[in-house]
Amino acid sequence: MLKILLTAAIIWAVWFFLIKKPQVTEHRQKKADEAKRKETKPDEEIMVACEKCGTYVSSHEAIIVSGRYYCSKACAGVK
Ligand SMILES: [Zn+2]
Repeated sequence: MLKILLTAAIIWAVWFFLIKKPQVTEHRQKKADEAKRKETKPDEEIMVACEKCGTYVSSHEAIIVSGRYYCSKACAGVK
């Protein structure tokens, strides 16, 4: 009787580890995905080339005229 219980306990332990491990991996994968999503958020600052002189400026600093990016007001043709 004790042998049966022991065998059952071993089977349960093996089963427990086999089931538990993939869940942990999946959880880690989800965290990695969340981190990736944070890195590529839509309002992220990107580098854009000036339409006139080709200078790279950040999208936050760039001057947008008619949907085109310019590095400065001089390049954009505005005063
Ligand atoms: Zn420019």
